[in-house]
Amino acid sequence: MDLTLSPELTDFREEVRTWLAEHLVGEFARHRGVGFSWDAEAWDLRVAWDRELAAGGWLCLGWPEEYGGRAATIDQQLVFQLEYALADPPYRATTQGQDLFGPTLLHFGTPEQKARFLPPIARVEEFWGQGFSEPGAGSDLAGLRTRAWRDGDEWVIDGQKVWTSHGGYADWLYVLCRTDPDAPRHRGISMLVVPTDQPGVDIRWIRNVLGGDDFCEVYFDGARTRADLVVGEVDAGWGVAMGALGTERGTTMLAENLRLQREVELITEAARAGGREPTGALRRDLARAWTDARIAEWNGLRLMTAIKTGRGVDPVVQSSVSKVFASRAHTRLGETAMRARDAASELVGEDYALDRLQQVFLGTRAESVFGGTQQIQLNMLSERTLGLPREPRRA
Ligand SMILES: Cc1cc2nc3c(=O)[nH]c(=O)nc-3n(C[C@H](O)[C@H](O)[C@H](O)COP(=O)(O)OP(=O)(O)OC[C@H]3O[C@@H](n4cnc5c(N)ncnc54)[C@H](O)[C@@H]3O)c2cc1C
Repeated sequence: MDLTLSPELTDFREEVRTWLAEHLVGEFARHRGVGFSWDAEAWDLRVAWDRELAAGGWLCLGWPEEYGGRAATIDQQLVFQLEYALADPPYRATTQGQDLFGPTLLHFGTPEQKARFLPPIARVEEFWGQGFSEPGAGSDLAGLRTRAWRDGDEWVIDGQKVWTSHGGYADWLYVLCRTDPDAPRHRGISMLVVPTDQPGVDIRWIRNVLGGDDFCEVYFDGARTRADLVVGEVDAGWGVAMGALGTERGTTMLAENLRLQREVELITEAARAGGREPTGALRRDLARAWTDARIAEWNGLRLMTAIKTGRGVDPVVQSSVSKVFASRAHTRLGETAMRARDAASELVGEDYALDRLQQVFLGTRAESVFGGTQQIQLNMLSERTLGLPREPRRA
């Protein structure tokens, strides 16, 4: 990728830098780097930060202006992501709507659905959750059993979802339901948009390893939603869901990967605490962590190039490569962090208070699972890039 900036992009970068310098101050600055995509630490502050970004016009950059975006080019989005990652703000709270459901609706939604749902996402007024996984349907998502059927002008929904990130904060869920039980597994599934504020929806928090409330179980017992709140065609939700999972590994991954570099700096500082200098195996691991962080960044840039030019590596393949590499590198980095802290890494504060590096160590375990597990990614890569025989699949 050619990283030389045109005069227009240089001006744009200045605009981003100036805005961040003026607004990433006070409590926001004191919470630099706080949070992950999978936890709810400092939730209210992170929501406030998202609202600050929205007021400045820095959320949903690539969306059309009519839906609350600024129709930014890929280059502008790239410049923004790089500057944003360098500034190390609190982790955005409302990524479910902006990075997952919003892009899916932009692609598959009706004009009425886009006009109704996208602007409140861009203004950080309505929150979203993804209701795909079930106790018996994760990697094997097509095995989902939550049912929906028509009753006059409404859908009625029965079933259970699990691991719904930030589900307890969600005003709306986008839910995969079986709408034709007689169709083959991958057909007869529809994506319904369901309001959470109703008696038929029961959302229960699940405590995560970081000690926080993050994901949820969701029970549907006669839940209802309007007949027109189907994303894409009825019974064609599988293709829509695959589109949604694709965006899960899209352009914002670059900023995620850039966070690794900051964490390497933190670990190096920890290893040097008390005037020590890292030696032996730790020195080697730190060098590897630094190298990993650079490779993760370059993977992100390669993905952006593929998306922008439509040339080179297939973006779906590249995003999978990036995810497999970054989640492995991040897990290793968490382990190195613990070694750098030595025995102190095992001590937690009052009420299970974890420091940043302990959070990285424990939290990164989730990265090889969400958005498609490591093994599922490797299966896909082996078929698409190496041409190995397809894994046997149930019809
Ligand atoms: C932090 C976090 C947040 C999440 N957020 C959401 C959310 O918001 N909404 C949502 O719907 N879901 C969410 N999930 C769920 C996530 O998508 C699933 O956990 C994931 O798809 C795996 O499904 P599973 O947990 O049922 O594991 P399983 O599918 O039961 O897998 C168990 C193990 O078997 C392996 N395995 C399974 N099938 C194969 C195969 N064919 N070949 C080789 N190995 C295989 C897997 O790789 C894994 O190691 C989240 C998960 C996490 C950890």
